[in-house]
Amino acid sequence: MATMEWLDVLAAKALDRELPTRDEALAVLAGSDDDLLDVVAAAFRVRQRYFGRRVKLNFLVNVKSGMCPEDCFYCSQRLGSGAGVLKYAWLRPEEVLASAEAGVTAGAKRVCLVASGRGPADRDITRVSEMITTFKDQHPDVEVCACLGLLTQDQAERLRGAGADAYNHNLNTAEAHYGEICTTHTFADRVDTVRQAAAAGLSACSGLIAGMGESDTDLVDAAFALRDLNPDSVPVNFLIPFDGTPLAGEWNLTPRRCLRILAMVRFVNPDAEVRLAGGREVHLRSLQPLALHIANSIFLGDYLTSEGQAGRQDLEMIADAGFTVEGAAEPTLPEHRRDLVKVRRRGPGTHLPANT
Ligand code: SF4
Repeated sequence: MATMEWLDVLAAKALDRELPTRDEALAVLAGSDDDLLDVVAAAFRVRQRYFGRRVKLNFLVNVKSGMCPEDCFYCSQRLGSGAGVLKYAWLRPEEVLASAEAGVTAGAKRVCLVASGRGPADRDITRVSEMITTFKDQHPDVEVCACLGLLTQDQAERLRGAGADAYNHNLNTAEAHYGEICTTHTFADRVDTVRQAAAAGLSACSGLIAGMGESDTDLVDAAFALRDLNPDSVPVNFLIPFDGTPLAGEWNLTPRRCLRILAMVRFVNPDAEVRLAGGREVHLRSLQPLALHIANSIFLGDYLTSEGQAGRQDLEMIADAGFTVEGAAEPTLPEHRRDLVKVRRRGPGTHLPANT
């Protein structure tokens, strides 16, 4: 079948919320650079149907960092990590609220409260619940997503009762590959937590990390496993191979490969909020604006343990690519940036525009 024909079939299926076959999903990952823009265009038709040209902004607050007893190989906060990330126990509520407030001011429509660790103790749920209730009293229109690790049903219900809108717990990779990235908990543990959260009425947020030495089949299996859980949002992370972690040498993504992974996830989970998450600047680099044609959501600014693109640059990228920030009353930035025009000096009395 010619390139456009099979992509038309794939897009038509996604527009009907019909699953592609595994072979079709694998073909998205395996194509050549010659058909890359066709793949992006097909995925954009799906993105546009469900989300128009809107981009949702999310903001992370790392409420507890490092010192985790788990051994997730990709994680800079794992037991014995030599990555040199910040380590601290629970932030004070006023610190969390001040940080969340900064995200709201920058335009975030969802604040994600993230804590390192295998899972919360009941007293941690009490602590986070109080933060959530206080924040929601002040910002009822901003969603709060908690990301605290493995959860019991009772804990999920308590978070929901406190006003949490969503719970994030990523599947990260395929079940067959899970033993290669973690030994202290299982893929099934993760599936179970996503189900507990959804059963408690929390919007399920679950995604993956690409670039961890997985095969194309693993990536497709992970995307299909996510579809089985029917999450409302699917963050797609691109591994940042931190020094001091077991996956430090896994530099195997290219910007074009990242676009294909995003497109495959979009075709398999067509109406889910597909979010550009960790590693987008490092791995997508100059192709980030193209990725907005597939994903409809980004984390604003910084991530958990790495610095992201400054918030203003994110807003510029969104505006320049012709997208709008979800919930913004008017364009966030002016179309023309005269302030970027610099005059270069060439000796005394010589002023030339920078582009001569
Ligand atoms: S449980 Fe979370 S914080 Fe702990 S090592 Fe795994 S990913 Fe990192």
